[in-house]
Amino acid sequence: MKKKFEVYDHPTRYTMQSSKKGQVHLIDLAANNFHGECSCENFQCVQMPRMQKAIDEGYEPMFPDEFRCKHLILIREQVTTIFIAALNATTEISPKPTPNNE
Ligand SMILES: [Zn+2]
Repeated sequence: MKKKFEVYDHPTRYTMQSSKKGQVHLIDLAANNFHGECSCENFQCVQMPRMQKAIDEGYEPMFPDEFRCKHLILIREQVTTIFIAALNATTEISPKPTPNNE
């Protein structure tokens, strides 16, 4: 079963039910320079300190998901899918080269 998430108070902020009954996580996709942030224990106690240490050491991760919890990864994936569908539906930008009128 897919986990449910809902827009909270801004298009980049979501809530998601925890696997622990009764708990809700707040996920902010724009926090930390768009890396994202989650209120869950894993992100707050494990991922964020690891990320901060990596930044302090000048490390630029090739796969930023290594510093994200499962909630951030899941919501980013689903939001990305929504964006790809929107891009797919748009007619404003054509991938074809424009005719050269010169
Ligand atoms: Zn989380």
